[in-house]
Amino acid sequence: MHLLQTYPETIADGEGIRYAIYLSGCIHHCKNCHNPNSWNPKAGVPLTDDIISNIIKDINNNPLLDGITFSGGDPFYHPADFFKLIKRFKEETGLSIWCYTGYTFEELKENPSMKIILPYIDVLVDGKYIDSLHSPFISFRGSTNQRILKLKKGEVLKEITD
Ligand code: SF4
Repeated sequence: MHLLQTYPETIADGEGIRYAIYLSGCIHHCKNCHNPNSWNPKAGVPLTDDIISNIIKDINNNPLLDGITFSGGDPFYHPADFFKLIKRFKEETGLSIWCYTGYTFEELKENPSMKIILPYIDVLVDGKYIDSLHSPFISFRGSTNQRILKLKKGEVLKEITD
């Protein structure tokens, strides 16, 4: 698993001030993707244990943070690695986790290795970016097909609308 980029304090990737972690690799190849460099799973640097520990330390030392956001790329590109990673972040920070993905919630539920990740996610922003549905008037998404889903124990509690 490769790390593309981190943003230690951002207000663009979910509610409040969040530590955003961009992971490499994406199979969706959406037209006019915001970051096609992220499609290559080898982009960025290998996400080593030392890097993970340092990010967790930074997060736990920043009382201003409201949560963590995983984006990319698609964090579900390497489901087995992402499962271990997100579990560790949840257990070692206790913060809320937002996650962006090009898969829909329903697609994730159908895949056993992806489904087990959902209980660690508090808010899922799902679906591919569809250029013809682009809107500058929606929060935290690029196109109107994408949903902001509040999850609990891996199930949808409610959809957050603008
Ligand atoms: S899912 Fe996101 S990162 Fe992947 S191609 Fe679509 S817009 Fe780009």
